[in-house]
Amino acid sequence: MEKMVALPDETLVPAIGQGTWLLGEQSGKRGKEAEALKTGIEAGMTLIDTAEMYGDGKSEELIGEVITGYDRNRLFLVSKVYPHNAGRKRIGKSCTETLKRLGTDYLDLYLLHWRGSIPLAETVECMEQLKKEGKILRWGVSNFDTEDMEELWRVPEGKNCAVNQVLYHLASRGIEYDLLPWMREHGVPVMAYCPLAQAGDLKRGLYESPVLSEIGAAHGCSISQVLLAFAIRNGDIIAIPRTGKKEHALDNAKAAELELTEEELLELDRVFSAPAGKVYLDIV
Ligand code: NDP
Repeated sequence: MEKMVALPDETLVPAIGQGTWLLGEQSGKRGKEAEALKTGIEAGMTLIDTAEMYGDGKSEELIGEVITGYDRNRLFLVSKVYPHNAGRKRIGKSCTETLKRLGTDYLDLYLLHWRGSIPLAETVECMEQLKKEGKILRWGVSNFDTEDMEELWRVPEGKNCAVNQVLYHLASRGIEYDLLPWMREHGVPVMAYCPLAQAGDLKRGLYESPVLSEIGAAHGCSISQVLLAFAIRNGDIIAIPRTGKKEHALDNAKAAELELTEEELLELDRVFSAPAGKVYLDIV
């Protein structure tokens, strides 16, 4: 993995990490999924994204099993707290249980999964407290649109936000209009979820697109690799594809080596146009 993205505190993380939604939920698949995650780690995808929500903790437990035997300092573990747990009453318990399932004593990054009814100021205060206690190194948000980020910036210590994780892929480029420029202006990276549009499920026909096949063929790469190279093309987006297969994990890690040419990017723009006006955040 050669491409890295700098966080606001200058920590470098791999531009392609590993998503884990739906992993660990079916006992018959756990072995293969664990193997895929290990293969991914060894290929440089040391950033692993999970959430207390995923399989009600089963995804975190699977990661916990996978990472025993790896040097914890070389991993970058991200988890997310449910909005209804992201306040003074419950965040401590949520975080402790996440740490227990992961078998670690700190998270590299803890995200508010999406906005709920607990005031942002309270969530930020709680995140800062978890930092002081050493349970998390930094915090961020997820599914925040531009207005939410602006509101966060008005909250005390809200500017300590390290990442905003949102849906982004070639066929869903809405954030390029105002959210991505806002994030760039404020020096906070975007973490792109569903970077493969769930293998095309979120956008019918994506994997049958002739332009993607042509670009892939020109580089000897798969369509998934072209999609990942597109997502991380500017050096300030982290993509977190999920796979339960080790051959796909290798594919995804190798996508970091693929450089799309100016012409190819123009061709992609022609078919999958960038937004001409405000598009509200896509969410799954
Ligand atoms: P992705 O866009 O990552 O697509 C996953 C699908 O792509 C799977 O079906 C997988 O199947 C397939 N796939 C992966 N790699 C390849 C490959 N190289 N070739 C062919 N197919 C491939 O979807 P997700 O929804 O999982 O999003 C990624 C991650 O983002 C999640 O796992 C989660 O961690 C995070 N997320 C966060 C959200 C939030 O609200 N913050 C919301 C949604 C996701 P296979 O197993 O067969 O490889």
